[in-house]
Amino acid sequence: MELNLLPILNCEGKRLAIDATVAVAMRDGDNFKVLAPVAVKGEVVNIGGSLELQAEGEASVALSCDRCTEEFESQIPFVIAERFKKEDAIGEDSNPDIIPLAGSVIDLAELTYDALVMALPSKILCREDCKGICANCGKNLNLGDCGCDTRPVDPRFDALDQLL
Ligand SMILES: [Zn+2]
Ligand SMILES: [Zn+2]
Repeated sequence: MELNLLPILNCEGKRLAIDATVAVAMRDGDNFKVLAPVAVKGEVVNIGGSLELQAEGEASVALSCDRCTEEFESQIPFVIAERFKKEDAIGEDSNPDIIPLAGSVIDLAELTYDALVMALPSKILCREDCKGICANCGKNLNLGDCGCDTRPVDPRFDALDQLL
């Protein structure tokens, strides 16, 4: 999904609205999957020769729970905030946060992907109180108790073990 900034590239103060449906391509090793094209809305503004992009969206994503490994769907809101400047207008001592722009086209799909990765929770849980899986029999404990004896072992038995 390409966005052409040419209409505002050389016009200080000019705005370009973003109202796009972005198909996000997945990459190897991703621990999530975008289930549908993502609506991204916002704008790019030419401020003092740099192009400031502000946009937001919400993606339907399939995730797998870190605790019970069950797959589930979640809505992940994200924000894209980037600054671009024409490559030849960037001086040597320029701000490292500014992305050099070769030509006038930016890839909205790539920006959306990056923003989404940043927006994912660091701990992915299917629900706040996910009970996880039983370490003994592997049953998903959200579906009910497995009946395993998971009481902590009495430390006195440990001492006995060591004697033997
Ligand atoms: Zn879970
Ligand atoms: Zn069990």
